[in-house]
Amino acid sequence: MKPYHCDGLTLYPLKEGSRQYVKASYPVRYGQYAEIQDNNYSYQFNLNGEIKFVQGQSHHWHHNDWLKRTVANDWIYYSANGYAGIESMLGEQYLPCLSYAGSPYAAVNPFETEPVKKALAALDNLNAGIADLAGSIGDKKVRTFLQRAAANDTAMLASRARLLHSILGSRVTVLPPDTRHVDYDVIPVIVADGCLYQCGFCSVKTGRDFALRNRQNIARQLEKLRDFYGSDLRNYNSLFLGQHDALFAGWEHIGFTLEKAYELFQFKNSSMNGANAFMFGSVSSLLAAPDSLFRALNETPFYTYINIGLESAQQEALVILQKPIEARQVREAFLKMMDINKTCDRIEITANFVAGERLPESHVSSMIDLVKQSAERQCSKGAIYLSPLSSPKPLKTVRKQLFDLKRNSRIPAFLYIMQRL
Ligand code: SF4
Repeated sequence: MKPYHCDGLTLYPLKEGSRQYVKASYPVRYGQYAEIQDNNYSYQFNLNGEIKFVQGQSHHWHHNDWLKRTVANDWIYYSANGYAGIESMLGEQYLPCLSYAGSPYAAVNPFETEPVKKALAALDNLNAGIADLAGSIGDKKVRTFLQRAAANDTAMLASRARLLHSILGSRVTVLPPDTRHVDYDVIPVIVADGCLYQCGFCSVKTGRDFALRNRQNIARQLEKLRDFYGSDLRNYNSLFLGQHDALFAGWEHIGFTLEKAYELFQFKNSSMNGANAFMFGSVSSLLAAPDSLFRALNETPFYTYINIGLESAQQEALVILQKPIEARQVREAFLKMMDINKTCDRIEITANFVAGERLPESHVSSMIDLVKQSAERQCSKGAIYLSPLSSPKPLKTVRKQLFDLKRNSRIPAFLYIMQRL
């Protein structure tokens, strides 16, 4: 579509991005979106007219870096510059810096820098300006887009995030690390609240005991989510089944949710190719899940990622972490994960371990032993994610543990960036 020029702005009411998620160190836009450019920035909006990306164009801006706003109204700064070894550490070619988590892996917090403050201020100014401009535009498509974008001011975007959380009955405290494969663009639906263990070390637990949502509740969430995502629904092809242990919900719940969501969200007609489902599981839910669950899951239209919190293969470390499971169960769960990854071509199970200084030295060696023993050959399916126990500074320790693991592991190993929604 040809651009429309007015008042110093270049407007694209509809642009086509990639239909496939890719790993790149430059900004790739996905699905369909609208764009406004001025002399200093390009602003990209989703199909509801909500801002999604801001990128500087002048020499004050780090070339190739960009800001992304999530559907939960959090800003994330994507840095593709100046971080050696990022791909090896994260599995992606950029570093996502979260506005709410103090950007622990970044040398400086980008949200405290002038270029980012200026970009966000410029967005506010743009929003105020286009409200007046919209009325004077003759082209209907451009006018409609500007009216939508103008209506989505700061207050409206915050209230939309509150609406999302009220539909879910909770905020999503953390997304599985595997959601990086779809740039964290997942539609969340809660199939069960809480978790089984209430581990002492965990900073993302909701504090609620595990409790299933009933089918009516899940169906209601899905219908409200369809309306909430509105026109932009067609840009999604991925679902997150929350909260912390959807695998324990069992096949009846999982199968019901996947089938209903696929139909209601029309993933078949998505602007993005394929369909993905993401969920967390636990040692207990993985060990208890029958083969029939994985066989059924493998037959759905979704490629499914399940992330299991193992934390440590060493008993003393599990006690320190106040995780009420035994090292023996962790080892069994890891072997089962490897087996499912081998036998189910559309299921990928990944595991989390903790990293940092507060655990016995044998925590790292037991993890390495387990990984070494369980994979005879190099395999690209599945992954291990390390999550720093507290603030990852000094990064040196966490990095060393990651690279010790990488050197000895035949499956990929990365750091976990804990994004919420
Ligand atoms: S690590 Fe998992 S199981 Fe343990 S408290 Fe956190 S969410 Fe619950």
